[in-house]
Amino acid sequence: MSAARVDGQGVMADVKVRFAPSPTGLIHLGNVRGALVNWLFARRHGGRMLLRLDDTDRARSTTAFADAIEADLRWLGLHWDEIARQSDRLARYAGAAQALREAGRLYPCYETEEELGLRRLRAAGGGPQPYDRAALRLDDAARRALEAKGRRPHWRFLLEAGEVAWTDGIRGPVIFEGASLSDPVLLRADGSPTYTLASVVDDIDFAITHVIRGEDHVANTAVQIQLFRALGAVEPPAFVHFPLLTDAGGHNLSKRLGSLSVGVLRDEEGLEPMAINALLARLGTSDPVEPMASLEALVAGFDLSRFGRASPKLDVEELRRLNAPLVHAMPFEAAAPRLAALGLGGIDAAFWEAIRANLSRVADARDWWAICREALAPSGGERDFLAAAADLLPPEPWDARIWGAWTAAVSAASGRKGKALFMPLRLALTGREHGPELKTLLPILGRARAEARLRGGTA
Ligand code: GLU
Repeated sequence: MSAARVDGQGVMADVKVRFAPSPTGLIHLGNVRGALVNWLFARRHGGRMLLRLDDTDRARSTTAFADAIEADLRWLGLHWDEIARQSDRLARYAGAAQALREAGRLYPCYETEEELGLRRLRAAGGGPQPYDRAALRLDDAARRALEAKGRRPHWRFLLEAGEVAWTDGIRGPVIFEGASLSDPVLLRADGSPTYTLASVVDDIDFAITHVIRGEDHVANTAVQIQLFRALGAVEPPAFVHFPLLTDAGGHNLSKRLGSLSVGVLRDEEGLEPMAINALLARLGTSDPVEPMASLEALVAGFDLSRFGRASPKLDVEELRRLNAPLVHAMPFEAAAPRLAALGLGGIDAAFWEAIRANLSRVADARDWWAICREALAPSGGERDFLAAAADLLPPEPWDARIWGAWTAAVSAASGRKGKALFMPLRLALTGREHGPELKTLLPILGRARAEARLRGGTA
């Protein structure tokens, strides 16, 4: 059983975690949660995070996906202290495999996928069966005969019988019976290492103290703990498995992952990174999900023991709700490059400050830019009242005081107050029932446009 402490108060010595995506696709919210939880744990304990690109599947891994993963993590603010690519470490994995072979823990197998499938079908019970170790019973002559027919072996790790147990940082005590597990393949027939071998060798070599990952890896952990020991690790790292996110109906997210990729949320949904971080750091914990301005604010209260064992439901609407306060508080200097990229470079600081409280995404500034700077169809209605109000518009220059002075005059002349006074003016000036304060908007609109709109023209 691992002796490493998983969480608690105070600083743990030399905490080192890793986030280990496979660059076979873009990262989505499920992956981000893994990256974020590792990052927060490292920062909370004064530790370090390794970004490990699990690219041993050469057919499916691409550098374009690896680059996109790095860019997405940087955008989220989840910077790593060290990076490693498994494809750079193939000699090291071959060395580890050789050591296992010499220790009698790695044995060649010749079954094809079809043969294994048939054998599983024939086995009683129908359920998943551990590998029957038929290859262990082959003698040298039988192996030579198979190789003479062109069969190349893949190599399995010989598991020990007996209990494998650990205290999981979220699940508590976990026990597996070694005999119920299949000896895992560590080398494929082409000699390449599998994830299982590469992951454990890396966790040892990079001195990982805490493996924090989704609960889909729980059974891998039982196997990996035996492999850590076989490879001479003094003590396996501490293990933490968090429950996976589900959709609103409680189903696996996998079908929707495309729409939940970081790229889509950033470029199409226009979300801020802290909306994503704020949700994913707290979802499934006993702490409330609330708007958070910075990752630092999340580090302070981060504690793995707050995570529950139930699968949290992901609600994309919640991301949108968390996004609005970030835009409302965004200084112009932060918004300016974003606005320029949206083709809204004409928006200056005064304009931004007038509208930002009405936006839920930066891109929504487009609507208010169009309302203030492009022709607006007349709203219709209240013609006499609006024409009288137009007559009372003071001469320019205008500032934020104009609105109060003008509407006081319109109120005195018309006898209207409150909604009856303000709503027709708002509708005529902006075409909307809600929006930024008119006292800041009116000087931005300018007198000519305001007057034309009040008189029912397209302006
Ligand atoms: N590349 C593996 C995955 O994405 C890493 C699992 C692990 O953290 O060990 O599932």
